[in-house]
Amino acid sequence: GSTIGIVGGGQLGRMLAMAAARLSYKTIILEPAADCPAAQVANRQIVAAYDDPAALDELAQASDVVTYEFENVPLPAGERLAAHGSLFPPARALEVAQDRLTEKQFLNGIGIDTAEFVAVDDDAGLAAALERFGGSGILKTRRLGYDGKGQRLFRNAEAADAVGTYANMGSVPLILEALVPFEREISVIAGRGQDGAIVAFDPAGNVHRDGILRTSTVPAHVSAYVVEAAKAIAGQILEALDYVGVIGVEFFALADGTLKVNEIAPRVHNSGHWTEAACVLSQFELHIRAIAGQALGSTARHSDCLMENLIGDDVLRVPDLLAEPDTLVHLYGKAESRPGRKMGHATRLKRG
Ligand code: ATP
Ligand code: MG
Ligand code: MG
Repeated sequence: GSTIGIVGGGQLGRMLAMAAARLSYKTIILEPAADCPAAQVANRQIVAAYDDPAALDELAQASDVVTYEFENVPLPAGERLAAHGSLFPPARALEVAQDRLTEKQFLNGIGIDTAEFVAVDDDAGLAAALERFGGSGILKTRRLGYDGKGQRLFRNAEAADAVGTYANMGSVPLILEALVPFEREISVIAGRGQDGAIVAFDPAGNVHRDGILRTSTVPAHVSAYVVEAAKAIAGQILEALDYVGVIGVEFFALADGTLKVNEIAPRVHNSGHWTEAACVLSQFELHIRAIAGQALGSTARHSDCLMENLIGDDVLRVPDLLAEPDTLVHLYGKAESRPGRKMGHATRLKRG
């Protein structure tokens, strides 16, 4: 059999390793934390920093193909892995997705609509950008934000409100996005094979709380037209990046039936966890099949469902969830629960 290298050892790496094992692939993870979720499942771990050149070379040499479970793999590390042979998704996907400005410019450049945006590099730039958007917008760090971290909402703001904000946000490059008056949020998990074949799961309807995904519901409450439009946009992104593997595309769905892309994640995605319970194959297996050069298989859904993240003390509900007949519980093997920490998820099938 062959060996799949995975950069990152969080729950996404763990679930990728599980899917790989089902198809008899061995996995090696590169992860500095020895007690990470993926360590309990992978065949081997290289305990080193993600940008350690010797560790990257070792990972590439021991693997037939290398992938990653998070989009903030340092770009030089991605390029070093790619130079050894097969890195899927390609390093270009990292480059585009790591910076919200580059990401939006890429999307707009291939004709995909996003929120309006202005790059912000000081308080004066913020004041000007706020004025342009009528005093409201979401200010975000361009890099390294997740679960709503590194964001600040402005409503009815005036120039004076900009004072000190740049320093408060860490004196790093920022972007102000116009507030999108969305009706709902949806996401598409799509995959592209080495032969260029593209498949997509039906969109999920996503609800966030405190910036963190709480639930994904499938089908999402959008029209058949919007379902097809969202899948088509995901496919367009995959082609433009000459992508191989699974991608998550987050959308704002507006009341007039139009879509704007919020952001893309060049990896398996939290809003796709429902696929393991409600579909013929999961997003994790789809990713493994794609990067291993196998047939992609079917994204058909056999049940409607609702996936709920188990965050912090939500794990205390696990015994009750396990007692439900149509609920699949998936835990990440994290010893301690902390507020805001993703401990697992539960998918309730809606049947009958
Ligand atoms: P993730 O954990 O999904 O990577 P993130 O930290 O990258 O999250 P975003 O997806 O950019 O954050 O934003 C988090 C949430 O904030 C969105 O899902 C949406 O609910 C809201 N939001 C973000 N940008 C906008 C916008 N321009 N207009 C309206 N709402 C927004
Ligand atoms: Mg994000
Ligand atoms: Mg997001």
